[in-house]
Amino acid sequence: MQLYELIRRKRDRGRLSDEEIEELVSAYAAGRVPDYQMAAMLMAIFFRGMTADETAALTLAMMNSGDVFDLSSIPGPKVDKHSTGGVGDKVSLILAPLVAACGANVPMVSGRSLGHTGGTLDKLESIPGFRTDLSFAQFRKNIASTGLCIMGQTKRMCPADRKLYALRDVTATVDSIPLIAASIMSKKLAEGIDGLVLDVKTGNGAFMSRTTQARKLARTMIAIGTQLGKKVVALVTDMSEPLGEAVGNGVEVVEAIEALKGRWRPDLKEVTLALGEEMLILGGRATGPAQARRLLMRALSRGLGLEKFRQMVKAQGGDPKVVDDYSLLPQPAYRVGVYAASAGFVRSIDALQVGLLGLRLGVGRQNLDSKIDHSAGFLFRKKVGDKVAKAGVIAEVLGSSEAKVREAASRLPAFIAIRGTAPRSNGMVVARLNGSNNHNDRGH
Ligand code: URA
Repeated sequence: MQLYELIRRKRDRGRLSDEEIEELVSAYAAGRVPDYQMAAMLMAIFFRGMTADETAALTLAMMNSGDVFDLSSIPGPKVDKHSTGGVGDKVSLILAPLVAACGANVPMVSGRSLGHTGGTLDKLESIPGFRTDLSFAQFRKNIASTGLCIMGQTKRMCPADRKLYALRDVTATVDSIPLIAASIMSKKLAEGIDGLVLDVKTGNGAFMSRTTQARKLARTMIAIGTQLGKKVVALVTDMSEPLGEAVGNGVEVVEAIEALKGRWRPDLKEVTLALGEEMLILGGRATGPAQARRLLMRALSRGLGLEKFRQMVKAQGGDPKVVDDYSLLPQPAYRVGVYAASAGFVRSIDALQVGLLGLRLGVGRQNLDSKIDHSAGFLFRKKVGDKVAKAGVIAEVLGSSEAKVREAASRLPAFIAIRGTAPRSNGMVVARLNGSNNHNDRGH
């Protein structure tokens, strides 16, 4: 392989063949391509982009660099959901058990907090004993017995993506649509699923803050899935304010359990049920959204989703008593209220800034060695559109460090706008895109 020639060709807007991409990725994973040349190639891709065929070839090469799970011995559909990342996004914790309770298997390989966005694994690890570092054998066993499992990427899953991602992280090449799409899809397709629902976030708390970019990312991921024979649907959903009430780890677990008990904020409910409908339809458990919603609501009202959550916690070594006793979760030593300076309506809550404040508070990791404070976070008692009284509580800041909690509480008001009139609500689902690349715009 003439590495220099490949870099030059990409730099000059040329195309790489499937074979060249496959060879490049496997050679890089095996340590036969130096980081400086791969970094140059990534930067060329960042500026020149990739065709649909190149992106699919990159996805396949990364997927095939490690284990590809085979779940065919488990009867029934296997469907998953992937979110491109947001603030307060605890949807997976509610959705996976709810969809499993409706008869579809949910094999979910999730991630950790990334930048200002939270991570499903970090949230679940707030539950005492909960393990996310399972083997594939354990993953398959749990899915076969309970219908769901949420774990982290194993060392042998997509090692080329792991190495490339680390290089992108330090070469300012993360936010490239083909690179993000191939990275996400390689991991999702290695899970052994039949169908995938993508929750592509838009708004200032999302990685793709502009809706046009979010749509483009969605279309790219759908094209990869379709090309590789998988059913993929994407919803572009709003991430301009934190989702639901809680932002953090333990606090988001509580909010997810409360949702499974039927108590949830409308924005969280809307996004979760919309994604759940798509998963049940993709998995052949429902023929349309109305039937899917009925199934989800029945599983919810009968407590079947909550029961699945309990089973998942137990199967992954966690203490299932957390479902009934939240005091078993890490408790914050400090809790400080944030109050409205004037009466009115909450006009906006800046999701990006809340995510960044959360990082400082210990919700996520500022660097690889940072320790997460599982008790830290925010509770938004008021959300966009809610009426507030002067000096009424808008939010609470929680955590184990008094200094950090006080600092976050003093900064938070700058990121919450209160105005005299209520803002217009556009709904949470901005667009739906599917394999035929049709998309239905829903407002915005
Ligand atoms: N998440 C991923 O897994 N990969 C990316 O490139 C970006 C977000």
